[in-house]
Amino acid sequence: MKNIFIILLMPIFAFSFDLAIDVGHTPKFFGTTSSTCQQEYNYNLALSKHVYSYAKTKMKKTNINISIQEGETTFEDRYKSSINKDLFLSIHHDAMQEQFIKKDVNGCPNSNYASGFSLFISGKNLYYEKSLHYAKKIAKSLLLQGLKPTLHHAEPIQGENRQLIDKKLGIYVFDDLKVLKNAKSPAVLFEAGVIVNPIDEAKAKDKIQMDKIANAILSISK
Ligand SMILES: [Zn+2]
Repeated sequence: MKNIFIILLMPIFAFSFDLAIDVGHTPKFFGTTSSTCQQEYNYNLALSKHVYSYAKTKMKKTNINISIQEGETTFEDRYKSSINKDLFLSIHHDAMQEQFIKKDVNGCPNSNYASGFSLFISGKNLYYEKSLHYAKKIAKSLLLQGLKPTLHHAEPIQGENRQLIDKKLGIYVFDDLKVLKNAKSPAVLFEAGVIVNPIDEAKAKDKIQMDKIANAILSISK
């Protein structure tokens, strides 16, 4: 009888979630510049590593395998990293259109026009519904922890005009985002905060905020 129980329970305990974290941009092509002239790539890398260590040390997650793709990666490398994964999550920090940004005395871009997180999925990804499911899970957890979405990507201006499919959760559809449409698994691009905004940039460095984000990302495997 005891053996039967072990056999029945094994598949439940054997379940594990494979998460591919994609560090947005590369050291050379670093993405946006923050309000203190820091490079976006470094924020993306720090947050990705924080999610990994939070999973191992604070949550003691044994049911989630996390791989991190970093460095001078090509798009092909990024697509490959999504093969056989449950979720491909590209981590970024956000900016806004030039007309809303001023340069401060140090020549760094600066604006409080937009603030908050956003999540993107592609209708051309093979696993659109699952991608949406995970984006919703992450956004709901962020909201529960007091974070707010930014809606500025939906504005009817050049460079934005994105399709906001869930205003409350800050989820957009962006069909032709390359990493999302070509990923071989469900895929979400996460903008953790708007780092040309000094308030958001300070939060992006704050360990409590980073814990909250890690907690939200790791809610996908519950
Ligand atoms: Zn980016």
